[in-house]
Amino acid sequence: MIRSLSIELKIIIGIILFTILIVSAERYQLSDNIVNQFIKSKKSKNNLLIDTISPIIALNISLGLEDANEEYLNQIVKQNDDLEFLELKNVNKDIIYTYIKESTKHLKKEEGDTNFCSKNIIDPISGENFGFIDLYFSDKELIEVHQKNTDTTISIFLITFILLFLFIFLIKRELKDLKVLSRDVLAYDPKLNNLSLRESKRSDEIGVIHNAIMSMVERIDLHSKDLDAINHSLEDKVKERTKELEAVNEKLKALSITDALTQLYNRRYFEQHLKDTWDMAQRKNVDMSIIMCDIDYFKHVNDTYGHAAGDIVLKIVANVMKTSIKRSTDFVARYGGEEFIIVLYDTNTNGAHELCTTIQKGIKSLGNFEAHGIKIRPITMSFGVSSIIPDTGNIPSNLVKSADFALYQAKQSGRDRIIIDD
Ligand code: GH3
Ligand code: MG
Ligand code: MG
Repeated sequence: MIRSLSIELKIIIGIILFTILIVSAERYQLSDNIVNQFIKSKKSKNNLLIDTISPIIALNISLGLEDANEEYLNQIVKQNDDLEFLELKNVNKDIIYTYIKESTKHLKKEEGDTNFCSKNIIDPISGENFGFIDLYFSDKELIEVHQKNTDTTISIFLITFILLFLFIFLIKRELKDLKVLSRDVLAYDPKLNNLSLRESKRSDEIGVIHNAIMSMVERIDLHSKDLDAINHSLEDKVKERTKELEAVNEKLKALSITDALTQLYNRRYFEQHLKDTWDMAQRKNVDMSIIMCDIDYFKHVNDTYGHAAGDIVLKIVANVMKTSIKRSTDFVARYGGEEFIIVLYDTNTNGAHELCTTIQKGIKSLGNFEAHGIKIRPITMSFGVSSIIPDTGNIPSNLVKSADFALYQAKQSGRDRIIIDD
């Protein structure tokens, strides 16, 4: 429980307890001393009085001047204002003289009381006992001393409490800055830079702590700005690099599926596409066709015009094929050498035949054409077509085989023709 109290409260409680303890102890000791001292001096004064009185009374008695005693004792009563009771008795305890202060008649005056004083009247010459004298002194002064003492104690406590409250107020005021500082530091977020504190003008420890925290916050701010800048530039760089990588990946992907010479798709991609088209046609239960086409006597082209010219012919033929296909699902790839393959989704033999005719016409329309300044004689192509509605009892490679067979037949039967494998 004590642990949960604030340091401020602990300091205040500590100071209050400490001060009360010190002041109480001091006051207790002081008042005890004062009262004891007072009682002591009072007693010695009383004893002095009774010591002075008793020989004179004894002398009067021994001289037979008992009457003089009454006058003498009246004088004593007059002179000692604090005397409340005086009694003179003979040896037989008969009262010879008595005085009781009117105002204190009702009060008990007993032997053994601090204010009570008693003495035997002894003849100084014979040592004979003439009687007794009892005195009772007023305790008014003692009460006054007690009262004064209590008043002083109360005043001291009052002043102490006032000073304490003043001190507590000062502590609270001093600690207020520290509280504001810690509240601000707790709410501080480097991202928002929301520390509202300004530099402290105080030169004490709180000012030093305040300014130390301020300077620390400034440095954190600076660093977080630097970090932000670094982060942003890193983010930009990462974005840039990601874009570059994506572009490179796209390029690589395109390269991996493209034939370098003709820019048609390559055989590898054809295999994948064939399977996809097969699956799709099977799902939709529609026709699909394969066209295999091969340039006739291409070896002769190479042999006659050179390999470079042969490459250009391949490019031109590829372009004719590319421009001949119209649907987004039509697909043409270089199958190898001067051989091309076309995959047609949702297309039967008629449609495939029609496309072959279009390509054939396109090739024919080239007529004598030029490649690298070399005049090349017209070329022709042979086509082998095969169509199917794919089903689970068949596989794509059979379709390719059958198109290849049709192409073989086209070659065998004189080239420059379209053969459909039924
Ligand atoms: P056919 O009518 O029976 O198809 O006869 P062909 O001469 O066209 O067939 P063959 O298989 O005998 O020859 C094909 C030639 O194609 C041989 C090869 O040098 C050539 N060839 C294959 N790939 C390329 C290429 O990328 N560039 C060039 N310039 N020629 C190629
Ligand atoms: Mg050929
Ligand atoms: Mg060939």
